[in-house]
Amino acid sequence: MSDSLAAGLNLAQLEAVNYFEGPCLVLAGAGSGKTRVITHKIGRLIQSGLKAEQIAAITFTNKAAAEMRERAKKLIGRPAKGVLICTFHSLGMRMLRQDGEVLGLKKQFSILDTDDVTSIIKDAGGGTDAATARQWQWTISRWKNMGLNSAQAAEIASGEEEALTARIMARYEERLTAYQSVDFDDLIGLPLKLLQEHDAVRTKWQESLGHVLVDEYQDTNATQYEVLKCLVGERGRFTAVGDDDQSIYGWRGATLDNLKKLPVDYPNLKVVKLEQNYRSTSAILRAANNVIGPNPKLFPKTLFSELGEGEPVRVVDCDSEEHEASRVVARIQSLRAEGSLQAAGGQYREWKDFCVLYRANHMAKPFEKAFRKANIPYKVSGGQSFFDRAEIKDLCCWLRLLANNDDDPAFMRAVTTPKRGIGHTTLGGLGTFASQYKLSLFEALFSHSLSSVLPAKALASLNEFGRYLNDLEYRAKRTVGAEDALVFLKDWLKEIDYEKNLYDGEDSEKIAAAKWTNVMDFCEWMAQRCGGQDDDEAGGVITAPLKTMLEVVQSIALLSTLSEREGEQNVVTLSTLHAAKGLEWPHVVLAGVNEGLLPFKMEDDDGHNTDDIALRLQEERRLMYVGITRAQRTLAVNWLRRRKKGRDTIAGLPSRFIAEMALSKETVKEDPREKIKALRAEFAQRALDAAALQAASQAATPATAKVPAWE
Ligand code: ATP
Ligand code: MG
Repeated sequence: MSDSLAAGLNLAQLEAVNYFEGPCLVLAGAGSGKTRVITHKIGRLIQSGLKAEQIAAITFTNKAAAEMRERAKKLIGRPAKGVLICTFHSLGMRMLRQDGEVLGLKKQFSILDTDDVTSIIKDAGGGTDAATARQWQWTISRWKNMGLNSAQAAEIASGEEEALTARIMARYEERLTAYQSVDFDDLIGLPLKLLQEHDAVRTKWQESLGHVLVDEYQDTNATQYEVLKCLVGERGRFTAVGDDDQSIYGWRGATLDNLKKLPVDYPNLKVVKLEQNYRSTSAILRAANNVIGPNPKLFPKTLFSELGEGEPVRVVDCDSEEHEASRVVARIQSLRAEGSLQAAGGQYREWKDFCVLYRANHMAKPFEKAFRKANIPYKVSGGQSFFDRAEIKDLCCWLRLLANNDDDPAFMRAVTTPKRGIGHTTLGGLGTFASQYKLSLFEALFSHSLSSVLPAKALASLNEFGRYLNDLEYRAKRTVGAEDALVFLKDWLKEIDYEKNLYDGEDSEKIAAAKWTNVMDFCEWMAQRCGGQDDDEAGGVITAPLKTMLEVVQSIALLSTLSEREGEQNVVTLSTLHAAKGLEWPHVVLAGVNEGLLPFKMEDDDGHNTDDIALRLQEERRLMYVGITRAQRTLAVNWLRRRKKGRDTIAGLPSRFIAEMALSKETVKEDPREKIKALRAEFAQRALDAAALQAASQAATPATAKVPAWE
């Protein structure tokens, strides 16, 4: 093993990295270097003679995949390029694109996002409200994750509500087939079907993969485990790494059974345990170990850190959400100030060293406001980008279709948004016809023989849509400059009656109006591009020659990559606890650690049976454990004395998890004002010293440390 690969691994990690004859499970607590084992093992496998293409590493999110790719490239260099590093979902997509035809799926099948699914289910349910549709969607997804189809779901359905949901599911399935579309759950379910029912496909995949590595194994669901089993076959050449104490996706079907089953399904499983935590100080790690203590243990683990005791964990009580946000601002500013004092010692704190974690998405709002006011750059991790908004996606689909008539997913969305009396039976007929003759939907629409499969009325509506698209394309080609572009866009939106569609589709008028404002912003933005403004790589605006609408539209496909341009930004991260899994920051604040928020209390908890509630509490405790263990050097845990609940403000209680951290009393309280005062005094002293020094040496060096404006 080369030095660079072996360096930075302890003996237990080396053991896991060097074992590739059979199945291997690395089971260890947070920050113990499990993910590091995966990256190094990729290198080791390549060194042992496997081709990069024969290795698949599966991560939990696209972001984690991107990060692992980056790390692997640094460690292994060019050969890492060929390794398949992706999520279960993108692996599934790849399998379906390659081999899905045996399931009757067209090569360019569309992938529906959650919004698409909601609107199809809404439609399948006869136009119910969005909330009910989402409820059905949730149940259907749960069934799909259990590997059930609508017929099987109908058999196990209990009560009238579930029976109804199973009937909706059957209609939903019909529509997906007709539209040649799959949803996210299908990206796991269908590949499994492919592997289980088609021997040739299974053999092909098993032979092409020499080793499969899975990160965050504790959060795989039953279907994903079955996919893994089919992929590795009896030889079972895989490495799974995970931590049962960090299983936090039970609500999405992830199951610890997968961990329990491994030693049973693979009696020769090699189990490696890691005990040293390389991430956090002892103070932080102790709080984490204390919190997770009360949970029942699937596998007993010990975890120690050699990074020293470090700063005590702080508990900060806040009067309200706004007060909490301002205390976090003060904390960040004072830690930064402290860091710049110690800059010579390499302790300088960048914005990206800070992270604020919370239980629910909406909790980001007060922080966003306070950060903006204090000029603190930030990003909301997992937040929705402009181009992910449903209304913007609607418009982009239309425009994409103008640029590329063969873009079937775009066709599907455009033809149904807004509704133009082309029902799912017609689209089903068109879809089957297109896949039979290997045509795109747009091509199929103009085919003479389509009349043999569709009734005249349906055909006429389709043709009208096709002609309208052609006309729009013709106009787009001839639209040049910002002014004309705006006219073109507004005419088009009027012709398809998009504003009405927005208002009809939303229960709340306020939301519809906000969406319409987004649409107008988008039009402005497009028009500017036609008028010769362009974003350069760095995001600045440069001037370019006038463009036609069609030219601008053609570059739209690249837009989706805009949101991925996140990269390594030097900004504070705001993130949900769930989205922070696997990541680490030097300074972490856990926000809103209140009873009712973390552990989260559902409205209907009182009606639930106590076993369910106990299990949920354990999952919430694991979430707290995940939160604490994201911190490397400092950790603050906030709770609110009064908090908002719906429209009311209620009294807040500190979460039971704060007591469970068992912090020593004298370290618990922190008064940032005291700290800031002390720092100010120190700064002033420093400035005096510097001035004195400067005067003495008569050197004309400019002052570098700038006192930040706090408060
Ligand atoms: P999590 O459970 O949160 O996913 P993990 O077990 O995957 O954590 P890693 O993210 O791989 O842990 O490692 C945690 C930190 O410790 C990283 O910064 C990593 O670079 C560092 N690390 C891991 N192993 C070692 C080692 N042997 N020597 C020094 N640093 C290490
Ligand atoms: Mg990890």
